[in-house]
Amino acid sequence: MGKHTKQTIEAVLADITTLHVDAIVNAANPTLLGGGGVDGAIHRAAGPGLLEACRRLGGCRTGEAKITPGFDLPARYVIHTVGPVYYSERHPADLLADCYRNSVEVAVQNGVRSLAFPAISTGVYGYPAREASQIAVRQVQFSLLTHPSLERVVFCCIDEPIFEIYKQLLS
Ligand code: ADP
Repeated sequence: MGKHTKQTIEAVLADITTLHVDAIVNAANPTLLGGGGVDGAIHRAAGPGLLEACRRLGGCRTGEAKITPGFDLPARYVIHTVGPVYYSERHPADLLADCYRNSVEVAVQNGVRSLAFPAISTGVYGYPAREASQIAVRQVQFSLLTHPSLERVVFCCIDEPIFEIYKQLLS
């Protein structure tokens, strides 16, 4: 068992593909074969190797998380998770929490010490930003308690309104 280390959670206003962390999380779709939004940005920045690696994963169910290398990204790994489509799931909150919990599990299993999340499901999947952010912060705070090797979690926001929500929740 390692000695106690300080853990930090922070919000940043940035493009997640530019972050120098051990792993970034992708808000993917169940095929893992690329899409728009943050998924498209990650595939563009990582290069074609990422799509090839994703093909070998055979898809991903909602709430689950799978890992690939980061290829041309500054991050060593990409952890792909599939958020719930807000209006078509009966229990979207549980599935969204699963995304955060399972992403942390996969990260820690791979030695990740710093991890960045986008605001999963808050784009085309339609999850209200404030509700989604509350679930994200609560689940990450909880997961950190049992994963002391994870030192730093970043909530990475591409737009100002959601960044403000995270800052407020973390203050
Ligand atoms: P989902 O299908 O899970 O809703 P989206 O990619 O549509 O995924 O949106 C998820 C969130 O990621 C949205 O809040 C969107 O503004 C944000 N986002 C889009 N591009 C980036 C990026 N390059 N870096 C960080 N966040 C991003």
